[in-house]
Amino acid sequence: MISKKMKTFVSKSSTIRAMFEEGRRLAQIYGEENVFDFSLGNPNLEPPDSVKESVKYILDNESPNFVHGYMNNSGYEDVRKAIAEFINKKHGVNLSEENIVMTVGAAGGLNVILKSILNPDDEVITFAPYFGEYRFYCDNFGGVLKEVPPDFNTFEPDLKRFEETINNKTKAVIINSPNNPTGVIYSDSTLKSIAKILTRKSEEYGTSIYLISDEPYREIAYDGVEVPYILNYYKNSFVGYSYSKSLSLPGERIGYIAVDSEMDNFEEVMAALKVATRILGFVNAPSLFQRVVARNLDSEVDVNVYKKNRDLLYNHLVKLGFECVKPQGAFYLFPKAFIEDDKKFCEIAKEYNLLLVPGSSFGCPGYVRIAYCVSYEKIEKSLPAFTKLAERFK
Ligand code: PLP
Repeated sequence: MISKKMKTFVSKSSTIRAMFEEGRRLAQIYGEENVFDFSLGNPNLEPPDSVKESVKYILDNESPNFVHGYMNNSGYEDVRKAIAEFINKKHGVNLSEENIVMTVGAAGGLNVILKSILNPDDEVITFAPYFGEYRFYCDNFGGVLKEVPPDFNTFEPDLKRFEETINNKTKAVIINSPNNPTGVIYSDSTLKSIAKILTRKSEEYGTSIYLISDEPYREIAYDGVEVPYILNYYKNSFVGYSYSKSLSLPGERIGYIAVDSEMDNFEEVMAALKVATRILGFVNAPSLFQRVVARNLDSEVDVNVYKKNRDLLYNHLVKLGFECVKPQGAFYLFPKAFIEDDKKFCEIAKEYNLLLVPGSSFGCPGYVRIAYCVSYEKIEKSLPAFTKLAERFK
């Protein structure tokens, strides 16, 4: 018998699995090319050539025992040093290898952070809509996720409600910008306000409320919009970075946590992150890909490809009457469904071979997520299906 909790989790996870299977079923009937699967955030772009070259170079030139062996649980020192120096140059901070822990992607990093800071019943606040896995990650360590509803006009955080949600059980706040599922990038002034509120509330409750910035989409930003760096705003911040999207390496499971030395109890926190990496069973982040990313700090996929996709799909949807905030980053659109019941709307979309994810999976019913990390041709081909879907509600 599996645990009662897992039983519930497995049944809740079945929506996404069902969608996956539905996609396969539709492909068998109508042919792969006539099914428009916008349900997954799996990047369609190939990793830059330099990634493949680095893999070859490392395997040909570095000692196999070194490349495939255990190392410090925080990761290779030279890799962490290279990453710290890269961040310093890019964001004007002052980090060294002591400020970096290599992780098993952003998901692994979030679990390591939450393991390190949460006591049972501690609360973690996040802003809806949000990546649904946060709820599980908090639960893994006895924490409780509290969501703050959005400002629906902008999908920027509602700061008044945020402040009202903080109480003496609040241990951390998770933000994600560029955001999955809205594509919104939090502005400088939003981050300044969040930092101010957290500083004030930490003083009020005599505690350190941590800010966790979940950053798998940091490099996926359009139209020259800057993604502000959270370590420049609030000392008790964790950056959870990932190369899954910037280098199109989601299966390789590689990322890092960055912490500023000014964080309260810095040394104790870094020791906890390192031990959490070990005792969660990760032991360390994948060794070969630690070495690969250190050689590719300046590389990223061609973001213009995603931008072209965004423009094509966004312009079409708006013409059809969908209400949608124009995304500045990530590779998702989050339009309002034409009916209140987002699950039903996704069911109807399936009749046109369109696979979309209901907003309720992101704590935001009434909306749908469209992942446009697919080929431009696929999007072009899907436009008549979106037109038919919209006409159904005219
Ligand atoms: N956080 C958000 C907001 C995501 O969208 C994802 C993946 O899609 C993750 C975390 C997990 O990223 P990784 O593959 O690096 O673990």
